[in-house]
Amino acid sequence: MKILKFGGSSVANQESIKKVFEIIKESKKKDQIAVVFSAFGGVTEVLLRSASNAKHGDKSFVEAIKKLEDRHIELVRQLVPIHLQSTVLTFVKVRFNELEDLFHGIYLIKECTPRTLDYVASFGERLSAFILAEALKAEGFDAEYLDAREIIRTNDRFGNAKVDFPTTNDLIQDYFHQHEGLQIITGFVASTAKGETTTLGRSGSDYTAAIIAAALLAESLEIWTDVSGVLTSDPRLVYTAFTIPQLSYHEAMELSHFGAKVIFPSTMQPAMKKGIPIYIKNTFEPSNPGTLINGDAPAGKLIKGISSMSDIALLNIQGAGILDVIDVNRRIFGSLSSANVNVILISQASSEQITCLAIKASEVGIAKEAIEKEFFHEIRNGEIDVVHVISDLAVVAVVGENMKQNPGASGRMFQALGQNNVNVYAIAQGSSELNISAVVSKADLQKALNALHEAFFLSDNKVLHVFLVGVGLIGQALIKMIANQQQKLQKENLLDIQIHGIANSRFMAFHEDGFDLKNCPLPEEAPEASIMDLEKFISQMESMNFSNSVFVDCTASQDVADFYERILEAKVGIVTPNKKANSGSLEKYKNLKKLAGKRGVKFLYETNVAAGLPVINTLQDLMLSGDKVLKIEAVLSGSMNYIFSELENGAPFSNVVRKAKDLGYTEPDPRDDLSGMDVARKILILGREAEQDLHFEDINIQSMVPEDCLIAASVEEFFDKLKGHDEEFARLLEQAKEKGQKLRFMATLENGKAKVGLQSLDATHPFSTLKGSDNMILFTTERYHDFPMIIRGPGAGADVTAAGVFADVIRIGNYTRS
Ligand code: ADP
Ligand code: ASP
Ligand code: MG
Repeated sequence: MKILKFGGSSVANQESIKKVFEIIKESKKKDQIAVVFSAFGGVTEVLLRSASNAKHGDKSFVEAIKKLEDRHIELVRQLVPIHLQSTVLTFVKVRFNELEDLFHGIYLIKECTPRTLDYVASFGERLSAFILAEALKAEGFDAEYLDAREIIRTNDRFGNAKVDFPTTNDLIQDYFHQHEGLQIITGFVASTAKGETTTLGRSGSDYTAAIIAAALLAESLEIWTDVSGVLTSDPRLVYTAFTIPQLSYHEAMELSHFGAKVIFPSTMQPAMKKGIPIYIKNTFEPSNPGTLINGDAPAGKLIKGISSMSDIALLNIQGAGILDVIDVNRRIFGSLSSANVNVILISQASSEQITCLAIKASEVGIAKEAIEKEFFHEIRNGEIDVVHVISDLAVVAVVGENMKQNPGASGRMFQALGQNNVNVYAIAQGSSELNISAVVSKADLQKALNALHEAFFLSDNKVLHVFLVGVGLIGQALIKMIANQQQKLQKENLLDIQIHGIANSRFMAFHEDGFDLKNCPLPEEAPEASIMDLEKFISQMESMNFSNSVFVDCTASQDVADFYERILEAKVGIVTPNKKANSGSLEKYKNLKKLAGKRGVKFLYETNVAAGLPVINTLQDLMLSGDKVLKIEAVLSGSMNYIFSELENGAPFSNVVRKAKDLGYTEPDPRDDLSGMDVARKILILGREAEQDLHFEDINIQSMVPEDCLIAASVEEFFDKLKGHDEEFARLLEQAKEKGQKLRFMATLENGKAKVGLQSLDATHPFSTLKGSDNMILFTTERYHDFPMIIRGPGAGADVTAAGVFADVIRIGNYTRS
């Protein structure tokens, strides 16, 4: 004999019921079977909610029950041929008339006892099993409807009744002895010795099936649902969750107890006692082997699954006057037990001055009252404080028998939580070492689950979640590069980069699963794009709350840079070519670095200086390894270098500047380059990286913009005025030539002093050979003393900058791998 149980999700509509019938047909070909059904999907919910509404004087139950009746009648019409429909329809109508009377009664007396509620709830299964039995008969099965109230006996703890196993087992065995047909059994419902209707607790149909399987010593118990077995985590919260092929009864119980809704915890007991294997299978994918739950716990991964419970609160009971802790605990748990409050987790510090309990949020009021009543005198005397409540929490639990005697699980768990900025309020590990639980904020639940899932199951492949602001030339080049390398990075570097948010100055858009980068839209083209609001963008990034996030700022905006502190605080890394933050106040620069360190995230800005050339990283490595920078000389402006190397070909200065502008080598207003401000910002950053306390005001900047050109109202007017200075520049060039020298616009830092301006250099100077828009940086340090370290190459352009940004993003991805 095999027992098959189909949950509400498997019998939600005609289509899914057809699949269920297929499965029954196939099983019946091979084995003798009995089938347990839940109520049609969502029906129990409606019944319970309607009862509560009726009790509170809300008449919406009338419509809800009418809809429910229509749904059942519709299913009868769909599943039972017309000539057989009348008996079934009569059954349904009679039940609904009774339900209407019941609800009306509740509405009038404004009361619904647990006993009445159980009776109301029982209609769901009684209707579904009856209709399905009739439909199966019509399909040619020798089906017989079995109301489980006839075979499962319980006490009268309504809502969560306890089974009287000796009586129940006899009843089941006798019944099956006398009935040979295919039994179609109501899940969830049972009855007391007096014949009152009880239920086994929400989701209790799994338990019904296990009770029957155990009584009949069935060969197996199959729980058919809408997922392929027990998954490593709740698939609605962790998209990468996957099927666990095999679990021990203990592991399954622990996972389900802590929220893996797929199987009801008590189900394990009867099956375990008789050693009956349980299979969790998918009605919508019957060929998938699903999960097998039995007595084995074969070696494998450190943990089997991660589960969670939401809507939890912590109660702290503390007080300097707590002397006899054992007695205090006895009284706490005694009072909670009398108030029927279920304690989910307990944690007690070794100082023994504080006991911390996790309970369901809905039970906080009763629990607090019960404990405070119990300790009324101690509280009045100041020996114990009033119960302190922390709300809006959740519990996450990692579960698996392999944790036993195997160090490392808790380390990995808390490292993953800590690295992702998830604060832990309380911790508990059962001595069975089967479960480690942590209480976290409800808002962090999804992030915590995903971080743990990655740490325990996917540590081979890291996901990096990117939020990109600025999709101009650099931003777009970056998206293209990531798209092209995505597969290779996944395969060879085990790094999965997803972009979840993109924005320019006008629009922003988000994608929960990550944009398709091959066809990544611009923000304004994305579906559900909204008007850009930086504060909202950051808030959305925070609320998506992914583990391993990075904010990429490809703008040149001060406004964006002003958000860096907040972003780092949220434990999100930053990658940026935007120089604004690092070239602002020294205090801000230092604070950002400190904050990144404190929050354990990276703030990377290799492209602040000389685009993708490895300047900042090299400098940081030099400093970390104990070198000391004596002098930095650098040509840091591609546009200025182009202008001065072109000047040597004899063209007038103003013409060369115009050509540089036309080629896109300068800013739209070339004065931004000629003023030397941009180069000054770069040498400022290099100086700071060399651990010198530099302020922008301290830099001696020699501008290349003549006085009268400065005030020119437009770029055209500027060019007109610049013509008047062509001769001066020609003279400068001539003087240099006479000395065999070349003109270069350079930045120098020596003895703590930085200067930026035009210099005439010997032909042998390394800068004299520079051509086009190349950059070059010379570091003279204690180690690189006689010959400086030289870094040279293209120091501007969207592609090389994007490549530098990309390299920093990958660096963060590699760094977060633990
Ligand atoms: P049924 O209606 O068949 O009783 P349930 O809705 O009670 O089904 O349980 C199945 C659901 O449990 C799945 O659809 C899934 O969303 C949820 N679930 C939560 N945690 C897990 C988990 N660890 N593994 C599988 N499913 C889970
Ligand atoms: N129908 C009941 C419920 O929704 C029992 C079950 O589906 O297992 O709780
Ligand atoms: Mg269920």
